[in-house]
Amino acid sequence: MTEQSTATALCTTSPQTEPALATGVNIQSLTKTFALGRKTVTAVESASLGTRQNSFLSLLGPSGCGKSTILRILAGLDKPTSGTALINSQSTAEIQRHHELGIAFQDAALLPWRTVTKNIRLPLEVAGITPEKGLIEDLISLVGLTGFENAKPAQLSGGMRQRVAIARCLVVKPTVMLLDEPFGALDDMTRQRLNVELLRIWTEKPATTLMVTHGIAEAVFLSDVVAVMSPRPGRIAEVVAIDLPRPRVPELMRTPEFHAYHDQLSEILFGRGGVAAGAVEG
Ligand code: ADP
Ligand code: MG
Repeated sequence: MTEQSTATALCTTSPQTEPALATGVNIQSLTKTFALGRKTVTAVESASLGTRQNSFLSLLGPSGCGKSTILRILAGLDKPTSGTALINSQSTAEIQRHHELGIAFQDAALLPWRTVTKNIRLPLEVAGITPEKGLIEDLISLVGLTGFENAKPAQLSGGMRQRVAIARCLVVKPTVMLLDEPFGALDDMTRQRLNVELLRIWTEKPATTLMVTHGIAEAVFLSDVVAVMSPRPGRIAEVVAIDLPRPRVPELMRTPEFHAYHDQLSEILFGRGGVAAGAVEG
């Protein structure tokens, strides 16, 4: 790791991580194994990774390298076999207790019988919180769905459903956002537009963010730090700090600096000179 990248990315798999500095995502020697019949599958092996509070971290890697497993552990949906995971210096249980965690998955997972408004309101209902006046309307407008308040998910396009999922993630005013390929199922153009919107929203209200993706360009475009994972067993292969200016605009993707990061990450993923076995899907 270069000196420059140490400034925002605090580590990889080695024990030199400084937990005290990792005020955002802070995972230490995280290992997760699953029992599969009589066999044991090591989904994640000894992963350590740290970022600062309110930074945007992407986990990049081929299918099956343990990205979702790390996200699920940070979300409190799964327990590590060993190691620790903190975000914003709190345990996931504490973050959940304070209702500050926003989550969105690849599949929007909306309730089909609920309208847009009622799907967005759901996390607050579950937490027993009455939304402030105007909050839901503001979120609907923020994600560009004004006019569709009373539509049901079946009446929306895939991109619109993912917007609802993002609004639902934001309704708790999250200090932590965990996004698992939130736009992965969408066409490239819609995906790029939604990434630009996600970035705008995150810039307006920063949150410590971890996004799982297998898109190199979107990882560079959005992130402060990109952690590249390698499969079998899932390990953090390399951590790259993305030192590109903010605010980031789509034109940035045509600059030599952007391409240099893209090339660097491709090389880590595929090796020099092309596509290797275990290529990134999507
Ligand atoms: P990614 O999100 O990078 O595609 P995952 O974290 O979903 O990868 O999975 C990593 C590995 O762990 C895969 O080999 C997967 O089959 C295995 N795995 C994930 N969840 C389970 C589970 N609940 N039971 C058994 N194996 C699992
Ligand atoms: Mg996954």
